[in-house]
Amino acid sequence: MSDGRGAKRVKIVLVCSECGARNYKTNKSPNATERLVLKKFCPSCRTHTEHRESR
Ligand SMILES: [Zn+2]
Repeated sequence: MSDGRGAKRVKIVLVCSECGARNYKTNKSPNATERLVLKKFCPSCRTHTEHRESR
């Protein structure tokens, strides 16, 4: 199988910072060192909240 060469993407889960719900799955470049924080709609909070990456 391929052995860690090329553009590998890291799978992450976006977690609502308000209620902790895991609302979105995405991936990012392993070169990105900063933690991803995105404003997304949370169905539990019923509003847009900050979502942070988690594994
Ligand atoms: Zn929430």
